[in-house]
Amino acid sequence: MRLRNITGSREVIAESPYVIREELQAGCAGRWKEIFGNDNPVHIEIGMGKGKFIHTMARENPEINYVGIEKYSSVLLRAIQKMEKEELPNLKFLRMDAEGITGVFAQGEVDRIYLNFSDPWPKDRHAKRRLPSREFLARYDVILKKRGRLEFKTDNRALFDFAVDELEPAGWSASAITYDLHHDKDMMQGNVMTEYEEKFSGMGNPICKYVISREK
Ligand code: SAM
Repeated sequence: MRLRNITGSREVIAESPYVIREELQAGCAGRWKEIFGNDNPVHIEIGMGKGKFIHTMARENPEINYVGIEKYSSVLLRAIQKMEKEELPNLKFLRMDAEGITGVFAQGEVDRIYLNFSDPWPKDRHAKRRLPSREFLARYDVILKKRGRLEFKTDNRALFDFAVDELEPAGWSASAITYDLHHDKDMMQGNVMTEYEEKFSGMGNPICKYVISREK
């Protein structure tokens, strides 16, 4: 994504009613029910990019609260623009690095986590930056409810194989897995395409997906 330096994006984000201001992020942990004004479940997407997936999910599921997390201001700006066109009360954004995720959600506060087309970080020495790595799974273990689940999609087979290998050592297991989502009738049910999914499936790349939890 070549959107990292759009002039003024930080200012727009600082003033946007859809984004939790950075100085208030630390105070969000344990307060998401209050922030949304209801007791609905909280689903989050980490690395949401321009927000197509989470905006569609929030529109289709008004009884669920969604939080989209994105590291780069200029990418988040695109998600804000979608909200300006179609405001949804059950969707909020955080501009942050997900490394700090346990600081913004309390223990067991999240019902579901989505990772979509996460950056591959191909060098071995950067493995711990990969969002489905065991280091991140340990963070998700804190914020996710006991029976909560995590769903991960990617067209990057090397990243997916890495992610599958990380599960057992981290204490997670897959309840569903496919190496060709778009030809898997069961797992395709209710599938909402992300921006990257549209692009890469359009190029003919098979999409891998797993659904994981800590239940044995
Ligand atoms: N999920 C979107 C999709 O499927 O179309 C975007 C995929 S894009 C390849 C990955 C996104 O994750 C980028 O926008 C990147 O900035 C964001 N990202 C990567 N690492 C992150 C982190 N540690 N914390 C927050 N966002 C991150």
